[in-house]
Amino acid sequence: MVARPRSDSLPAAMPTASEPSRDCPLCPRLVAFRETWRAAEPAWSNAPVPSFGPREARLLIVGLAPGLRGANRTGRPFTGDYAGELLYATLIEYGFAIGRFEARPDDTLRLVDARITNAVRCVPPENKPTTQEMRTCRPFLSATLAELPGVAAIVALGKIAHDQVLAAHGERLSHFKFVHGARHRIGGRNERGEVALFDSYHCSRYNTNTGVLTPDMFRAVFAQVRGFLDAEG
Ligand code: URA
Repeated sequence: MVARPRSDSLPAAMPTASEPSRDCPLCPRLVAFRETWRAAEPAWSNAPVPSFGPREARLLIVGLAPGLRGANRTGRPFTGDYAGELLYATLIEYGFAIGRFEARPDDTLRLVDARITNAVRCVPPENKPTTQEMRTCRPFLSATLAELPGVAAIVALGKIAHDQVLAAHGERLSHFKFVHGARHRIGGRNERGEVALFDSYHCSRYNTNTGVLTPDMFRAVFAQVRGFLDAEG
């Protein structure tokens, strides 16, 4: 049976699905892309990539979408492409991960007080989900947020993730401008009632190669998050 995401318009008491099924049929373009890659690379995961990390986490990191040869291949967010190299090294540095990142889902890397998800769970052609695909996938993000009872901080990797988090929280996009390094106070979907949203440029190879994001700029965001969570106690 296909796990359908809860529509934001349904009552909160309805069961929520925070993970799409392996054969999620909701976005025809992404289904077609997935089928192409299942035929071409049958050993790859080629499925929606589930969130990674403990549900008790106080930090949620929201990426854009799986990379074709990264998470779409390995089945773990940010695993197998450049974006993960920078992300996991930074998470280890700031105590949000332990173990050794070897770009394989069976390495020893473990997240600590942090969970990682993607705004869009299936790999999109050319790394570009459409507006409709973002909207269709959003209930999975809403359900992911709702099932994190202790989430106090969210890091949005890029403007699309920032917008998706705001929309999932029912916030007006025009009230919260995406600015690298900014911290916004937004309403929480859990019992805490409030969450700090931290913006970062996406840690993609393109952004680092073009100098939009340097490793130091990325570190500065996680240093801020570390300080915020430590002060929370
Ligand atoms: N890998 C992911 O899982 N998400 C991204 O946003 C980029 C790479």
